[in-house]
Amino acid sequence: MTERWKERAAVAQRRRFLVGAGLLGLAGCSPPGPLRTWLAGPRDAQVDAMLSSHISVDMHSHAGRVLAGRSGDFSRSFEPLHDPMAMGGMNVICLAVVADSPVTRVLPNRTISAVRSPEPGELYEWALRAFPRAFALVDQERLNIVVDRASLAAASTNGPSVIIASEGADFLEGRIERVDEFYERFSLRHLQMTHYRVNELGDIQTAPGVYGGVSAFGEEVIRRCNQRGIVVDVAHAPLDFVKRAADTTTRPLVLSHTSLAAQPREFSRLISPDHARAIAATGGVIGVWPPAARFPTLGALAGGIADLVDVVGVAHVGIGTDMLGLTGPSVFDSYTLLPDLARELLARGFSTEETGLILGGNYVRVFNASMLA
Ligand SMILES: [Zn+2]
Repeated sequence: MTERWKERAAVAQRRRFLVGAGLLGLAGCSPPGPLRTWLAGPRDAQVDAMLSSHISVDMHSHAGRVLAGRSGDFSRSFEPLHDPMAMGGMNVICLAVVADSPVTRVLPNRTISAVRSPEPGELYEWALRAFPRAFALVDQERLNIVVDRASLAAASTNGPSVIIASEGADFLEGRIERVDEFYERFSLRHLQMTHYRVNELGDIQTAPGVYGGVSAFGEEVIRRCNQRGIVVDVAHAPLDFVKRAADTTTRPLVLSHTSLAAQPREFSRLISPDHARAIAATGGVIGVWPPAARFPTLGALAGGIADLVDVVGVAHVGIGTDMLGLTGPSVFDSYTLLPDLARELLARGFSTEETGLILGGNYVRVFNASMLA
């Protein structure tokens, strides 16, 4: 099994040459539809120069319809991913499977909550189907898999790439050796500790606390991720979890998708200025997410990014779109919008360099600091 995934990763790497050739071929024969628009349409030279000189990264995504859904339809069809990424100039996405789907439900008020405890082995078995589905998407969409610093650095020339991620570490079921198993078997390089279920690692933002933050096992997982070279993502974790995680980790923390609120209400997924500062203090990065209910336009999303920059500085802010994972409409629902978002950031007074940091450079720094090679 392990060999098969390695082989697939190698195939995906080799395909970059075919992808390059394919794009040239398309350009030469007037492609139909959106790609033609991209090639021939008005483009902003400053935006193009910025996007081609920086690696852009979406810190949290379920694009391509990677998720099987709560019903566990592992054979449902994918959505295009390679072409929208190539058109928009998005180089890398953290492609997240979701670890707790079988035991959560979307409630009538569109919040998500765990509705039962999993059976022993249930979420491990779920992950053994969810990760291969991510690889099937990678295969079908001719994507590259980033596994280390070199493959991340190569992403801007290799073509659209993914970092294999998990939203929730529920498949560990309290067994530390499974961190190694998923690192090796599925190239896991980005692990979000908790999601919508208070799991073995610690508390969540959207339910009453049980551990006072992080559990002893949660701290053990953080240390193991540091040792192996896996990015530690504390999205969905409450502030007391984040503070303990910041004390435990020897690498910068990621909080992949949220936005700033002066005083988040109880059980909100938003974060306070103190919560944001706790991430920045590790040298980490916070991804701003794009629900249309909060940011109705790309200009408003750029404003939300600027608000967070005002609190933690430009070195600690990124984007996490949660593509195809939000329960409501998103103002950033296609990677073809990346140049428009870049333009909005430049219009707010961010320099080309600062815009490049926000749209990927900061995550690249944290990823590189988290890898062993
Ligand atoms: Zn998500």
